[in-house]
Amino acid sequence: MQAAERVSAPAKCWSCGQEVANGQPFCSSCAKVQPPRQAGYFDMFDLPQKLNLDVQALEKQFYRYSRKLHPDVHARASQQEQEWSLSQASLLNDAYRTLKNPLERTKYLLKLEGVQFEDERGPGNTNPSKVPAGLLEEVFELNMQLEELRQNQKLGEDDPQLRRDLEGAKDHFAAQLNLLDEQIRSLWSAWDAAWEQSDEAKKTAAKEAMTALLQRRSYLQNLVRDVSETLKES
Ligand SMILES: [Zn+2]
Repeated sequence: MQAAERVSAPAKCWSCGQEVANGQPFCSSCAKVQPPRQAGYFDMFDLPQKLNLDVQALEKQFYRYSRKLHPDVHARASQQEQEWSLSQASLLNDAYRTLKNPLERTKYLLKLEGVQFEDERGPGNTNPSKVPAGLLEEVFELNMQLEELRQNQKLGEDDPQLRRDLEGAKDHFAAQLNLLDEQIRSLWSAWDAAWEQSDEAKKTAAKEAMTALLQRRSYLQNLVRDVSETLKES
């Protein structure tokens, strides 16, 4: 395990001079709050960069840290320490929110590993070149139906069968989303094992597989949202 740990120089505690592990909000020797440093979310919780994570343990640690960073605890500390506590608390919130959510955790880890995700907020079905493999026909059909529904809305007409079809398509894609989540989860162990063995080839394979699934997921999520929104207007 040692070989795979992130190599970053530990800082020295400003107060007692002992070494403080990268990202740790407190000195383990004198318990003083430390200035915030550039550190990853995993480092803040002293966690290995793996995806199977004990969320209850993470939550416990988060509350433990949060109590220690609470402004009341530092009311008599120096101005500087009070400021550090506030910034550490805000960093800790971000780290906790990201790590406890399975999808956010996966995406965050992939970003640490250099994966860049495109803007996920854009409309899902405007660019046909981005339709994931194997979905082209379904998406084409769906877009035709959506277009028809929008046309109906403009003309003040109603086609109950069309709306039922679109509801069905929405459920179908939503079910695919759930399936994708399961597939992503099933790759966590592959990543974790590769990480423990420092097996770069296996890490890359797991990383690429997860990225492809996440991109497909993001596409489908946009699609489901488009359908929901259009249906709501009718
Ligand atoms: Zn110290």
